[in-house]
Amino acid sequence: MIHVQNIAKSYGNIQALRGVSFDIQPGEIVGLLGPNGAGKSTAIKIITGFLHPDEGLVEIDGLNVLRELRAVQAKIGYLSENTPLYPELSVQAYLRMIADLRSIPEPDFIRRLSDAVYGVGLQDYLTRPIASLSKGLRQRLGLAQAILHKPQFLILDEPTVGLDPTQIVEIRALIKSLAQESTILFSSHILSEVEAICDRVVIIINGEVKADQRLSELSRSNDATLVLQNDSDDVERSLNALAGVERVQPLRSLDDYPAYRISGSVDITPRIYTVARERDWAVRELRRDTVTLESFFNQLATTA
Ligand code: ADP
Repeated sequence: MIHVQNIAKSYGNIQALRGVSFDIQPGEIVGLLGPNGAGKSTAIKIITGFLHPDEGLVEIDGLNVLRELRAVQAKIGYLSENTPLYPELSVQAYLRMIADLRSIPEPDFIRRLSDAVYGVGLQDYLTRPIASLSKGLRQRLGLAQAILHKPQFLILDEPTVGLDPTQIVEIRALIKSLAQESTILFSSHILSEVEAICDRVVIIINGEVKADQRLSELSRSNDATLVLQNDSDDVERSLNALAGVERVQPLRSLDDYPAYRISGSVDITPRIYTVARERDWAVRELRRDTVTLESFFNQLATTA
């Protein structure tokens, strides 16, 4: 697992991280989400051992990143903001160089090369000079170098930045497929990306963790919306009288029918359904409201 405990970092008088903590369990895909300048890259550089924190501790698979950096780096694949790619080298020569740096044994090289290039869909470009590759293909090559040694942990900084929409879809699908083999942490400032790829999101704003949330739990809200065909005097009172109801807010639906937003301490939609039947209300719609990552994030960002 990845254990990040209270890491802090300042650049001069800019406090980039103010005590960030989170854990990532084996097999999870976690998105580190935040606006530009929130501290995501700084956190990732510290987690991968490329930057020393002023305070705090990072352990990867029980190893202290500062004290056991080489052992940690053998376990991680890292795609940085700007992975150095050597333009004059061919794809194959570049991956060969990475394999040497990673001390991949010679007999394993062809197998690893083949797994990585097929994994990222670069098999037809092996002899092409890196200089001739599009931005999307270079990003794939960045991923290929990150997975060449079959790392247990993949850490990706803004993996789709600068790609066109088709390439973004492809890289997202690729990251998801890599999760079968590795635990993945990736940073992004794009809500939809995090929503599409990850199990859990750690939201970082202004150098602080503002939320650590499983996406599957995010959508479960105890709010419900009821839309009726006509106005009726007793609706608000009856809804307020239901067990578990905390607040009833009358409003109008977009198509101008009487509507109520009902907040509960538990899921109260079944009770609303029962009372609506008992009172014979003409129900146009009854739904349990969902919280999108966007609404959740906006709420955090405006209260930050
Ligand atoms: P993010 O990746 O979320 O965009 P960063 O970690 O890159 O955020 O930056 C966090 C803050 O630290 C920003 O205010 C940024 O300007 C500042 N910062 C990042 N790197 C440096 C640096 N090398 N020197 C000075 N300030 C930096």
